[in-house]
Amino acid sequence: MIQKAKGTYDVFGEYGKRLLYVEELIEGLMEKYNYEYFRTPIFESSNLFHRGVGETTDIVTKETYDFKDRGNRDLTLRPEGTASIVRSFIENKMYGNHTIPVKAWYYGPMFRYERPQSGRFREFYQFGVEVFGTDDPIADAEVISIPVNLYKLLGLKGIKVNINTLGDSESREMYRQALIKYFEPYINELCEDCKERFIKNPLRILDCKVDAKSEILKNAPKTIDYLNESSKKHFEEVKKYLDSMHIEYEVNTNLVRGLDYYTHTVFEVEASVEGFGSQNVLCGGGRYDNLVETLDGPKTSGVGFAMGLERLMTALDYEKVEMPLINGIDCYIIPMSENEKEYATHLCMELRLNGFITDIDYNNRNLKNNFKNADRLNSRFVIIIGEEEKNSNIITIKNNDTKEEYKVKYEELIDFLDEHIN
Ligand code: ATP
Ligand code: MG
Repeated sequence: MIQKAKGTYDVFGEYGKRLLYVEELIEGLMEKYNYEYFRTPIFESSNLFHRGVGETTDIVTKETYDFKDRGNRDLTLRPEGTASIVRSFIENKMYGNHTIPVKAWYYGPMFRYERPQSGRFREFYQFGVEVFGTDDPIADAEVISIPVNLYKLLGLKGIKVNINTLGDSESREMYRQALIKYFEPYINELCEDCKERFIKNPLRILDCKVDAKSEILKNAPKTIDYLNESSKKHFEEVKKYLDSMHIEYEVNTNLVRGLDYYTHTVFEVEASVEGFGSQNVLCGGGRYDNLVETLDGPKTSGVGFAMGLERLMTALDYEKVEMPLINGIDCYIIPMSENEKEYATHLCMELRLNGFITDIDYNNRNLKNNFKNADRLNSRFVIIIGEEEKNSNIITIKNNDTKEEYKVKYEELIDFLDEHIN
């Protein structure tokens, strides 16, 4: 038997219904926020991610699915959404004054070669947004409000918003110098990856999963002490706007996030439920005022986040969040014999096109088994088509709960159902 590839999973049944509900809610919310739907290719030139995500990140050094196509091109399955959206923004010249800010949202599969475990897959889905062309802190706050409001709409309660700031390039550079000075004496006590990070990008040591609990990391300098005035002001305003939107948050001075491109605001939303597991970061994001330029676009500010759907679904299950899912069907049609199948099929189609959830017996079951099947499908009505019904155009329809039976003219059936359903 061929099995699914490691780190992937199938969607069906109740999970599928819950997932579709969440996806619809996301779509509706993005409509209200007036964001534009983007869909970019699942594979892109490998270069895009090397430069866009950053050469020193775990994603690029260890996790990408790289391949050559038959034309010998270097391609990569996208590990995240931001680089592709930035590419699309630049390639489609969306940076004209009249079009900005561009507020994009996306949803789709991402691929990372990681060690599969709970909350960590090799193919996983992300919902995310990117706002281009405004450096106003109001945009940072709006972006943070999106996941918070999605969780609120869903009824997910156990969440915690952590925010921090890295400051602008100047502040970041001062901070980088401070980190180098601080970490130098401890270099041999850090993990192998961190030794490498020390040379290439010391900021990323703070994001290390191996050394996460060490005192060395805990006592490291804080970004907040190295901010210049304008960076301080930006952060203060983000907080002010969050307050004005009644979004609760905590400033976590150790938060830096794994990607190279962040400036100013960074944030994460975690599931703060006892026992949820260590993969508890539901979404993360921040501001990246240099990324568009890094990818050869004109200097353009950006801010966004990405949310993992799998972890969200787990959190919703964990909190036993109920959803108003459609349960059961409206009509189940039983043709009594081969002779009535055509007539029944026509009726089935008619009901479906008039908005009723309708199913039909495909398997020539006997009447008893058909009624069992109607119960299994949780059908509100059962329609039996025999020779008499077919000839007279008068349909026998039975309420599957009350067992009450009605005779209804074919042309009055839709009205009858409209009256009796809902
Ligand atoms: P982590 O620290 O958990 O590895 P990350 O910093 O790599 O996360 P991002 O690249 O910012 O995460 O992705 C945003 C969100 O996407 C994460 O918060 C998480 O919910 C989800 N995510 C990331 N990697 C995976 C994965 N391998 N499987 C499932 N979800 C993931
Ligand atoms: Mg990761």
